[in-house]
Amino acid sequence: MWIDGEEVESPSGEQMPVLDPATEEPVDSVPKGTRDDARRAIDAAEDAFERGKWSDPYDSRERGRILARFVELVRNQEDSLSVLLTREHGKVLSESVSEIRSLENTFEYYAGFGGKIFGSITYTRYGKDPLELKVARKPIGVCASIVPFNFPISLFAWKVAPALIAGNCVVVKPASTTPLTEIMMVRLLAKAGVPKGVINLVTGPGGTIGEELVTNRKVAKVAFTGSTETGKRILQLASNSIKKVTLELGGSDPAIVMGSADIESAASALFTGRFRNTGQACNAVKRVFVEKSVGEKLTARLSQLIAEVRLGPGLDRSSTMGPLNSAEQLRIVESMVEDAKARKAKVLAGGSRPVNIKKGFFYQPTLLTDVNDDARILNEECFGPALPVVEVEDLGEAIEKANMTRYGLGASIWTKDEGERRRAENEMKAGMLFVNYRPFSTPEAPFGGVKDSGLGRELGFEGLNEYLETVSIRTYMG
Ligand code: NDP
Repeated sequence: MWIDGEEVESPSGEQMPVLDPATEEPVDSVPKGTRDDARRAIDAAEDAFERGKWSDPYDSRERGRILARFVELVRNQEDSLSVLLTREHGKVLSESVSEIRSLENTFEYYAGFGGKIFGSITYTRYGKDPLELKVARKPIGVCASIVPFNFPISLFAWKVAPALIAGNCVVVKPASTTPLTEIMMVRLLAKAGVPKGVINLVTGPGGTIGEELVTNRKVAKVAFTGSTETGKRILQLASNSIKKVTLELGGSDPAIVMGSADIESAASALFTGRFRNTGQACNAVKRVFVEKSVGEKLTARLSQLIAEVRLGPGLDRSSTMGPLNSAEQLRIVESMVEDAKARKAKVLAGGSRPVNIKKGFFYQPTLLTDVNDDARILNEECFGPALPVVEVEDLGEAIEKANMTRYGLGASIWTKDEGERRRAENEMKAGMLFVNYRPFSTPEAPFGGVKDSGLGRELGFEGLNEYLETVSIRTYMG
């Protein structure tokens, strides 16, 4: 763990193994931290915020320079960091490289806000009295970043980069199955010049470390990505001390494919959108609604693309898809596909674990049609490589079914018809809409959902704003 500028063990002496999902063998182990460890990290962050120089409003360009230096350090170690990420997560090496680069992009973007965090001044009269009205934007204090397993490095960046450039101090809690590369990132932040106490990292179970971060009164903001169930619990726990909370939660993103669409492009985008990262992405394409006239053409092309997948260990350069991250994730995906099969879904590809791979948390890329409306895979978040395709009569039916779940993270539409595009923009209930393009994220665009998919936004200027407090100063000028 990293507390107050030092690498530390937990006084508990307990360790948690980190397994390689491709072999089920240990990669390493990390301390099983306790609530006391989390409190030590919070106290160090509070001390750095109250007494250190990091939050000094005159120093935001210096903060930007340090973040830029961190990006250089990461770039120089891209290869070894990617290997470590693949070993603890399972994703194939090319996906790890692009994830490390996405962290570089996010930090580079937020480093650019150094010297550009400003407020405003205006003047008015209150009765006859002249007044200056100043709006200042200040850091919040201690921010907790609770990171999930699926994109441990990208999502670390989405939380830590805006928090730091704004002048806050941070305590990171990685997912228990993927803490190792985040620990390396914290070391590199310190090497780049982030002062002691400003960045801290505590490993250990969500139920203890995570809940201490959420309930501790010294923590001013919690940023969480993960399941909707844990998000709801965090919101409840955080309400005891009234703190800022942003929640990036589950999604069951629909994609609508209309008869006018370019089916070749749509199929290849849906394939990437569903199966990258072995299907473990919050804004992955999780349900497809296709106009009947082009249904068969689309599923035929998707089946071809799936047949080209080479399932295998992420470190093997010939693999194009790795295992799921844990036995638990494998069990959840398998149970959702079995549920669809029991309700008479047709399996066009996959539909089970691979028979030829004996170890690791592998599941075959799976394509389902004729899926019953009540199947779990059409109603819950399926965090793995299984895609249900449902034929519909028209756009009205597609939108109705797309909006049917409790989620509202992303959605996409494939059409060449301007009227259909506009209707989707107006009627689809999601925080992000992708038009004739696969789901993706970029530092400039705010990311987040509506309904049970979350609260607040990450990335973009909105993402920075979540780490700033607005203070209104009213001065009598008479
Ligand atoms: P969780 O939401 O349980 O975990 C996400 C993070 O929160 C981890 O760091 C976890 O720590 C921590 N955490 C767990 N419980 C608490 C708590 N009570 N208070 C504070 N922090 C806590 O997700 P899982 O990893 O268990 O995945 C379960 C399902 O959630 C997946 O199958 C998927 O459907 C969904 N999910 C969705 C994501 C998305 O981006 N939409 C991301 C991850 C999961 P620890 O690892 O120690 O438990």
